[in-house]
Amino acid sequence: MLISSLAPLMGLFLFGLIIGSFLNVVIYRLPLQMRRAWGETDLPEMNIAWPASHCPSCQTPLRWWHNLPLISWLTLKGHCGFCAADIPLRYPLIELSAGLLAVLLVAQLGWGWTSFAWVAWSWVLLTLLMIDWQEYLLPDVLTLPLLWAGLILHWLTGSNLEFDQAFLGAILGYLSLWSLYWLFKLLTGREGMGFGDFKLLAALGAWLGAPALLPIIMLSALSGLLLALLIKLKKQWQNQPLAFGPHLILAALAVKLGGWPLMEALQLGDWLRLTGWAF
Ligand SMILES: [Zn+2]
Repeated sequence: MLISSLAPLMGLFLFGLIIGSFLNVVIYRLPLQMRRAWGETDLPEMNIAWPASHCPSCQTPLRWWHNLPLISWLTLKGHCGFCAADIPLRYPLIELSAGLLAVLLVAQLGWGWTSFAWVAWSWVLLTLLMIDWQEYLLPDVLTLPLLWAGLILHWLTGSNLEFDQAFLGAILGYLSLWSLYWLFKLLTGREGMGFGDFKLLAALGAWLGAPALLPIIMLSALSGLLLALLIKLKKQWQNQPLAFGPHLILAALAVKLGGWPLMEALQLGDWLRLTGWAF
């Protein structure tokens, strides 16, 4: 009985690992492609599908057994099979995260097309998290389709209330950070965040509904402050900018996966009941 219910989840986990290894390609190549398009012509020409995967250090094309998610990194012990350059730990971690997110979401929501839409949502968020973390970029080609997909999903599968909250979530998500940005800019003359952050929060609002914006903003501010504190404590602060996107994304995933129990623990249950949170 247990085996028969676990086997599909195991299959989903393996599928998630494979998708994770594709996400690694997108995370590495999309920012390079954007930079090239902006005029940094010394960067190598590439797109998502071409050329075949190669070691970024020695340029040797990978063999198929170097391309197995998770397994290759473990058998190669984190080094390139040709030149022994380090393969960063983030590669297997992203594969693992993509697999785990799929399993957790389907275990929570059950099997069905709607669940699969949420799994795809989490994979796009994982990609955006890493690109913003490393490159301070939230590409429009990811945030804008994510926004539309959220609205369409709730339009197709949700109640009228759900669609209203999703629609309002997109608008308020954009406007809340936009006003914060201008307030900060008028007060300090500096830019606290980028326009990508507004579009990202609009997309998160479209998926999770306007009432969820409050817990998302609270949790992301908390997680951002925590990281800033950690960097200060380790005395590695060199006035480097901190990307806000990863914190917004972690908060949104926590709201989705933590659901009502987490909201109650944050004392936000009353707020969400008052606003009739439909998600
Ligand atoms: Zn190499």
